[in-house]
Amino acid sequence: MDAIFENQPAPRTTADYIALEALYGATNYKPLDVVLTRGQGVFVWDVEGRKYLDCLSAYSAVNQGHCHPRILAALTEQAQRLTLTSRAFRNDQLALFYAEICAATNTHKVLPMNSGAEAVESALKLARKWGYEVKGVPEGQAEIIVCSENFHGRTLTIVGFSTDPVSQRNFGPFTPGFRVVPYGDADAFEAAITPNTVAILVEPIQGEAGVIIPPDGYLRRVREICSRERVVMVLDEIQTGFGRTGKMLAEEHEGVEADMTLVGKALSGGFYPVSAVLSNIEVMEVLKPGEHGSTFGGNPLACAVARMALRVLREEGMIENAAVMGARLQAGLAAIGSPLVRDVRGRGLMTAVELHPDAGGARGYVKRLQELGVLCKETHDHTIRIAPPLVITGEEVDWAVERFAASLR
Ligand SMILES: *Cc1c(COP(=O)(O)O)cnc(C)c1O
Repeated sequence: MDAIFENQPAPRTTADYIALEALYGATNYKPLDVVLTRGQGVFVWDVEGRKYLDCLSAYSAVNQGHCHPRILAALTEQAQRLTLTSRAFRNDQLALFYAEICAATNTHKVLPMNSGAEAVESALKLARKWGYEVKGVPEGQAEIIVCSENFHGRTLTIVGFSTDPVSQRNFGPFTPGFRVVPYGDADAFEAAITPNTVAILVEPIQGEAGVIIPPDGYLRRVREICSRERVVMVLDEIQTGFGRTGKMLAEEHEGVEADMTLVGKALSGGFYPVSAVLSNIEVMEVLKPGEHGSTFGGNPLACAVARMALRVLREEGMIENAAVMGARLQAGLAAIGSPLVRDVRGRGLMTAVELHPDAGGARGYVKRLQELGVLCKETHDHTIRIAPPLVITGEEVDWAVERFAASLR
């Protein structure tokens, strides 16, 4: 161990690690008191050897299951060959990644980035540039419409149009040019459009807001309005993408195609931050050399990992499994019939149990579930989000439902 542990024992127990973290770390998270050290498939183990079923999947970044062996092999193989070239030079993984993600998602053009927030930022920049150069919006006047209760990441511009006071407080001043409309309300979106509107940014299902599913037909209507009004439809599929909802992309549930689709999280199966803007329209062509970029964006390690992450999703039937297991999970949760539960909802394996306001908050139930060997995360006080890796089996779903039944008494 490093010098810091010379005069004291290295951390061993859960409490040791938590104390050390508290001593040195920024306090921007309030995690459960569990210190994980190993993961495999749907399971994770803590430093004291306890085993848990992971029902969060790192916010859907590990859809393919923890430490998927084929993605791990692609990572280590590539890491021994070439990891980073910058985009000053070309690398032999990038073109293959482009071709394969386009085939997998039925798109034409790709802009690779790293974190999800960067994909969002990239799309906002692209939409504005398209607005000025193609739509003819007067300079400096572009407007982008976003939805209430949105979650698109943590950069200054993105938190600037959040409606969550905790995300925003004392981080201003913010980037201008955004308007908020109620989520799920296509009429409100239509009414907010002006000649200067260049884009709408929307999640197909709002994950962080508590797995909020918009009314049927919402995305179809947004699509129609966008086409009619020449507004770029930007769908943030960073959480809903790559099989989570039982389809490759959640937009398929409504048979729509966005103009820009943002992906991240499970694009790497949780091994590495990889994100991308996918687009089918001329919007990507407004970018000229030097106008946008990222040192790590499109690096060979990221591309090799993402290529295999996409491949195993399809070759190992994970998307179909998400649809089948999601239905089984929701049916099981609904059958618990606990008076504490107000609603069970979801699509595929993106599921939530909303508790009654007088149930005392979700955190207590999440801690109960931890004791029973199930790790989940509450969102917005009253909702427990349940999103296991897409490789979960029927038996494991039933096992989890039993634990939920026991904790929701
Ligand atoms: C997680 C998430 C983001 C941000 O991704 P980061 O990699 O954390 O920057 C953006 N949009 C949605 C819908 C997300 O779930």
